[in-house]
Amino acid sequence: MGTERLGDVLWLLGLVVWCVIRYAPYRRARRTSTVIKRDRDRERLLLIISFLGMFALPLVFVATGEPRFADYRPHPIQIVLGALILAAALWVFRRTHKELGRNWSATLEVRESHTLITTGIYRSVRHPMYAGYWLWTAAQALLIANWIAGPAGILSFALHFFMRIGREEQMLRERFGEAYLDYAARTSRIIPGLY
Ligand code: SAH
Repeated sequence: MGTERLGDVLWLLGLVVWCVIRYAPYRRARRTSTVIKRDRDRERLLLIISFLGMFALPLVFVATGEPRFADYRPHPIQIVLGALILAAALWVFRRTHKELGRNWSATLEVRESHTLITTGIYRSVRHPMYAGYWLWTAAQALLIANWIAGPAGILSFALHFFMRIGREEQMLRERFGEAYLDYAARTSRIIPGLY
């Protein structure tokens, strides 16, 4: 198997694990009703864009080899690095889902029995799940040896992240007041001590 196919297979494997982490425990969990739902249409559009860049485009590439003209031959180190970052992304993803529990939502929402999580992986950064997505898209760029399907994840998630982050924090400030202000004052967004 050439290194370009190995990268595809690893990415696909990552996708399967990602789906299990996201959907297995939450299908069964009964969640309380939503009390705040912010910018529904805009949030849906952002979700579709990052879905296309992070999942649909690379999946089409892995399944059909298209768009072939944008292919290149990856360096073996790139695949090793990609695999390590992918593993880190999945680990972060598992931890954040576990710790956020029923407070999780795909779009911007606050639930009736919402609690503010500030411990565990949420202790030093406020958006560890998004940090996990940055890792995931970096792994995609390294593993998928195609100039379109590889970087598509970083670009689409960047748009999603920067258009959402301020409004997510605003929503949590409205819901949790001082507690969120204190939490924000002692934490970074995604990189401890940096950003
Ligand atoms: N931004 C977080 C959570 C992503 S899921 C992260 O990257 O880990 C998005 C939902 O999580 C939002 O709708 C918000 O209601 C909720 N949320 C974000 N931070 C939270 C926290 N510290 N405690 C509880 N819920 C949180």
